[in-house]
Amino acid sequence: MFDPTEIFNKLKLVDQSFYTQEVCREIAGKLDRIVDLKKEKKAVLLAHNYQRPEIFEVADYTGDSLGLSLQAGEVKSAEVIVFCGVHFMAETAKVVSPDKIVLLPNIQAGCSLADTADSDDVADKIDELRIKYPDLGVVCYVNTTAAVKALSDSVCTSSNAVEVVRALPNDTILFLPDENLARYVSNQIPEKEIIPWKGNCYVHQELEPESIHKAREQHPDMQVLVHPECRDDVVELADAVMSTSGMVTFAQNSSAKEFLAVTECGLSDLLTIQVQEKQFYRVCNVCRYMKMITLDNIITSLENLKPEIQLDEETRHGAERSIRKMFELTTSDKVPVSLC
Ligand code: SF4
Repeated sequence: MFDPTEIFNKLKLVDQSFYTQEVCREIAGKLDRIVDLKKEKKAVLLAHNYQRPEIFEVADYTGDSLGLSLQAGEVKSAEVIVFCGVHFMAETAKVVSPDKIVLLPNIQAGCSLADTADSDDVADKIDELRIKYPDLGVVCYVNTTAAVKALSDSVCTSSNAVEVVRALPNDTILFLPDENLARYVSNQIPEKEIIPWKGNCYVHQELEPESIHKAREQHPDMQVLVHPECRDDVVELADAVMSTSGMVTFAQNSSAKEFLAVTECGLSDLLTIQVQEKQFYRVCNVCRYMKMITLDNIITSLENLKPEIQLDEETRHGAERSIRKMFELTTSDKVPVSLC
């Protein structure tokens, strides 16, 4: 049973005006219901780092999208995966765990970045570019649909994008869908030609350097951790550029006491709850898609085992090949069991 006072003491650290004692009493009741349903349905609940903080309380695993999907593949006893994130992430979980029921509690939880790369448009672009660059390689960020992953030579994450592109034999790479991550990779590997897709994540694109300068003036000792989906003029101000999971590990292990995690606000919430002895300042934006998952729609989803993610086998297989390639190019000795 969840203790409403304990929940209140934790969540008030995130937002005291929203997480009142009364709200936390209701939250505790819903969390109890989710725990019962998870047991009844043999379900595992995965929460992306950008989710609402109350969801972290009932998550079996918290992390970035690929890490969560791979983790799900390792949980042999689970028959159901509840993916608290957005559509492409739940698809990736289905790619890795084809025999499990994968639920996305709100099917409207899409991603405007993944939506910029429609698979038909990507296929046309690849055909067009291969006329000029016969040896064109295609690398897609994990924030893409399974259909786009199936068209790519390799998937990458924000933490291994440079390593993947460097390891591929091709001199010219179509990198999609995030133009900011493409530029970051291109700056690190000037010897290759990187052709960026025209897409970006609005959450990161709208973060501006002025806000970081202002925060630094007020807190000169803080470490500035920036996600590579941010604009160039923001990335330049970073003490470290890393994925969300990288930020969590860094904040936990660093001797620094103050941090600014420049990404979606959910990560600052997570850090505030998990690393209470350190201080996290906020220059962040909220992703409207990530916040579409609520305790209420998790309960409904578990009760009805809907909405379920379905993939045709050809797409699933192509996407799996492309994810497997990423492991071969980077840490082949650590290919997760679920992909072996
Ligand atoms: S934060 Fe950006 S990339 Fe992530 S789900 Fe939201 S819109 Fe998509």
